[in-house]
Amino acid sequence: MDQSPLPSGLLRAALDAVDPYEPGRPIEAVRLDTGIHEVIKLASNEGPFPPMPAAQQAIADAATGLRMYPDPGCWFLRDAIERRTLVPAERILPGNGVDSLIKLLCLATIDPGDQVVMGWPSFISWRQGTLMMGGEPVLVPLAPDGAYDLDAILAAIGPRTKIVVIVSPNNPTGAAVTPDALEAFLDRVPGHVLTVLDEAYFEYLPSGSHDGAELLRSGRPLAVTRTFSKVFGLAGLRVGYLMADPALLGALARVRNVFDVSTVAQAAAIATLSEADAHLPERLALNVAERARVDGALRGLGLAPLPSDANFLFVDLGSAERAGAAFESLIKLGVIVRPARGFGAPTAIRVTIGWPYENDRFLRVLNDVLPTLPSLARN
Ligand code: PMP
Repeated sequence: MDQSPLPSGLLRAALDAVDPYEPGRPIEAVRLDTGIHEVIKLASNEGPFPPMPAAQQAIADAATGLRMYPDPGCWFLRDAIERRTLVPAERILPGNGVDSLIKLLCLATIDPGDQVVMGWPSFISWRQGTLMMGGEPVLVPLAPDGAYDLDAILAAIGPRTKIVVIVSPNNPTGAAVTPDALEAFLDRVPGHVLTVLDEAYFEYLPSGSHDGAELLRSGRPLAVTRTFSKVFGLAGLRVGYLMADPALLGALARVRNVFDVSTVAQAAAIATLSEADAHLPERLALNVAERARVDGALRGLGLAPLPSDANFLFVDLGSAERAGAAFESLIKLGVIVRPARGFGAPTAIRVTIGWPYENDRFLRVLNDVLPTLPSLARN
């Protein structure tokens, strides 16, 4: 007998295809399980730095105003983003993290059977958002070094394609597309397709890299996403933004929750932008230095992390068994990394670049764990 408490047919059929997000174990839970006090988490690509001082002050100051709803138009935040990106405010839509904006974009655009073309492995939410709407994600394999195969992506576009997503730098692999390749790609994307450039890790890019805001200003028909969750240190507040044509933002306005960016998040994001230039150089320099150091140390352990322009490294361990065992063993020793399985890379782990002491700990523990992993089958 069917024991389901739900009326049959209640749930939308499209949800059958959507795997629920597997939340990583929180630090506190790992601490309790292992008895290790100093648990470190290098699993979600947050930057190691806390919110900027002006943001911390703005968060405290906002408390007294929380009787009232947030500004649904994010008026001052959009102005602040305009000042930073030079993209006009009417082309900017802040949201409850980019994750939420991805869902809204899918909600507003994807009918059952529509295709969204994306590189793979890549950021899981683009695939989930497409599936959620009954759309069909078309997953185009990355090159072995993690680079986007933009020709293959173009070749995968068909009459049913609505959106093509370029995540650059790509999560979980780390490399960015070059600006020339991106421009040449944009020249060739057919007119019935919207290109989305997910620049969640934009601030980490070296100078001379692509800049979605500049592409938008030059009139490219494109949508660009960015977040305050990484180098700006506000992941816990949930705030990101989409830059796109006002007609697209108008459609999203019909499906969004109007109060989805809290008063605190708006205040903190505005304050962050007001002093970003004072803090970013130190943050970025630490990331570059530590990423190079961790990369070198991993190579010293016989591994081959992929080249990364972001704040994480992708390490293929050769088999799903080894990647799974490494993840489990690292956690038992108090180090949480990300299995890349959900991103389409079951043989790999992804590790966020943290403070030097955190990176040291990861490397030390990995060094202990590697000899215990199942050996690689040779053929
Ligand atoms: N896009 C990519 C490529 C990401 O890696 C992430 C965060 N992991 C997001 C979007 C979502 O960011 P947010 O915290 O703003 O939801």
